[in-house]
Amino acid sequence: MSLEAVDDAVRAAAAAAPGWRHLASFDRGRVLMAIARRMVAEIDTLVALESADTGKPAALAEAEIRGAAEYFEFYASLVHLPAGDVLDVRPDLHVYTVREPYGVVGVITPWNLPLNQAARAVAPALAAGNVVVVKPAEATSSTTVELARLALEEGLPAGVLEVVVGAGATVGTAIVEHPLVRKVAFTGSVPVGQSIGRIAAERILPLTLELGGKSANIVFADADLPFAAAEAVRAFTTNAGQVCSSGTRLLVERSIHDTFVDLVASAAAAVTTGPMITEKQFETVRHYLAVAAEEGTKAVVGGATGPGRMVEPTVYTGVTNDMRIAREEVFGPVLVVIPFDTEAEAVAIANDSDYGLVGAVFTADISRAFRVAGAIEAGQVYVNSWSTQSVQMPFGGHKASGYGREKGIEALNHYSHVKSISVRIEAAG
Ligand code: NAD
Repeated sequence: MSLEAVDDAVRAAAAAAPGWRHLASFDRGRVLMAIARRMVAEIDTLVALESADTGKPAALAEAEIRGAAEYFEFYASLVHLPAGDVLDVRPDLHVYTVREPYGVVGVITPWNLPLNQAARAVAPALAAGNVVVVKPAEATSSTTVELARLALEEGLPAGVLEVVVGAGATVGTAIVEHPLVRKVAFTGSVPVGQSIGRIAAERILPLTLELGGKSANIVFADADLPFAAAEAVRAFTTNAGQVCSSGTRLLVERSIHDTFVDLVASAAAAVTTGPMITEKQFETVRHYLAVAAEEGTKAVVGGATGPGRMVEPTVYTGVTNDMRIAREEVFGPVLVVIPFDTEAEAVAIANDSDYGLVGAVFTADISRAFRVAGAIEAGQVYVNSWSTQSVQMPFGGHKASGYGREKGIEALNHYSHVKSISVRIEAAG
């Protein structure tokens, strides 16, 4: 799309903003609920489009799209929020706060869960009374375009949800630079997040940044080992490892290291993942397989690639946390295993990362579960499971994994800002 097309989309959204903002909240909610229902009704079409763009199995695409519909359902029921407060200041002042939408929100999404991640930002932004211009990733635009079409048919006023497609460096940058865009929510890589952040610094533009991860799953000797192994494998093979919250560092108590690695290796060998999304991503993963070999690690399973951009689920041992394969996000089905001796050491290794998106702890000791969950520097922590996420749970990063929050009631606070109003009350007579 041309830069003029971006300008047209932003201006169309800005023109639609007052009408949407001042619609009665029930009416806004009804439209969002209708969109949710329509997404479920059109699930076969949406799944087919998503699978064709990404290569992911239909069952996975369906789960993601049902999750996308849930974002609209959840936020449809929260359109009456965010509300304000009345503040007790002085008898002659009535002081209150209101939360107001920003206006035009720019949403830029990646290719790994295309419609799900678009819905994750679009639904709360619309619920809070904003209008949205969304740019999906180049390779995976179809379902976001389809969402906008369905939304229009379900009564979303024209202009309230605009989709622009095209290259990030041009179309994406044009959204972030556009003076009528008042807030940007970006999901993607750290370097692009930084580049958006530099423009935002000049413009004093509020951002939500959902970036990468190198998340740790910590397994203690007292855990349910077969279950923990199954979760550890799910954590790095789901969507062929192309998930920001993948558990890609497996920290294992030394006394069970060999037993547990055997469990993980045999479970991983039985998994067939989908393909890498693009040739570029396939090359990235192959590069990291070479890095792991150069660093002297041992692949206890996998390590090979095949036709159709397939990567075998790959588990490396002989890894230390200072190696590149333990520090850099691969975004493929690649796991490193690192032994530890004490709880303190496990937490220290987990936190010795530039990232802080997700963590998990597997143990039968309830006190230790609470201690470790509290000590992990990450936006979300799972106990005795991996990624039991839901729409209701706020989601976001610590450190280089980003800031701001999507999901939950919390997201509404990031798609609105507070105004304080003080009204002087004159004395009678
Ligand atoms: P990416 O950063 O290359 O691209 C993401 C989006 O940004 C795309 O739409 C792209 O076109 C656009 N873009 C690229 N350059 C841009 C620029 N200069 N200005 C504005 N927009 C630009 O990321 P990707 O490769 O599509 O996705 C993989 C990354 O996303 C991984 O690092 C992963 O961890 C991260 N991710 C994070 C989450 C999360 O919720 N934290 C979820 C999914 C993916």
